Amino acid sequence: MRETTIMRKILATILISGLMVTIALSNGKKTENRASYAAIDNNGTRVEDKGFTVTKIGDGVYAAIGGDNDPAESNAGFIVGNNGVVVVDTFEDVGAARDLLAEIRKVTNLPIRYVVNTHYHLDHVGGNAVFAEAGATILAHRNLRGWERTENYKFFGDNPKPDKRAYVEAFVLPDMTYTDAVDIYLGNRLIQVRYMLGHTGGDSVIIMPSAKDYTTDIVFGGDLIWKTACRI
Ligand SMILES: [Zn+2]
Repeated sequence: MRETTIMRKILATILISGLMVTIALSNGKKTENRASYAAIDNNGTRVEDKGFTVTKIGDGVYAAIGGDNDPAESNAGFIVGNNGVVVVDTFEDVGAARDLLAEIRKVTNLPIRYVVNTHYHLDHVGGNAVFAEAGATILAHRNLRGWERTENYKFFGDNPKPDKRAYVEAFVLPDMTYTDAVDIYLGNRLIQVRYMLGHTGGDSVIIMPSAKDYTTDIVFGGDLIWKTACRI
């Protein structure tokens, strides 16, 4: 799909991203479920930290929203079809990803068939292992596969410590890659994955046609749309 066409499509849809969290959460009719998990504070005490909020935003579409200071560190989401689930991004670490899997299991016991990583940044791929272990196929733009275990070192300075190196080296890479686009069919549900320029050079948006009130598309925009800027 041409970039201009995608832009028009995005402008006509609901965007799920850091920017659009406010919209998703401000609708009182939505179902919300706050997840939390244990963390260690500066005194070494085990505490319950804020995790992320799961909000139903459309027909079988759920946004998992984490804040900048939450352990999840980013946003994710999942889509339920009649024969399986697609997960969009996996947070920063396996702890948050396990919580996301637990939240999905509150909604459905259908298999997790695919994970789509919107881009390589560690706060979007760090929990891939959890879903790979659950049987999912990891799917992403081809550039992501080359960058996931290399470019993520930069977040830890010029000489990352061994534990940080081990953290990045443990990231699960995509099983399948695409150049421009791929369509996923969850039974009778179409999910369109489209490559877009911006942010990293290996970004994708995930489009669910007519998922909002059966008339409006919903789009997971990853970090292409982020808080105060549209990085397209
Ligand atoms: Zn990013």
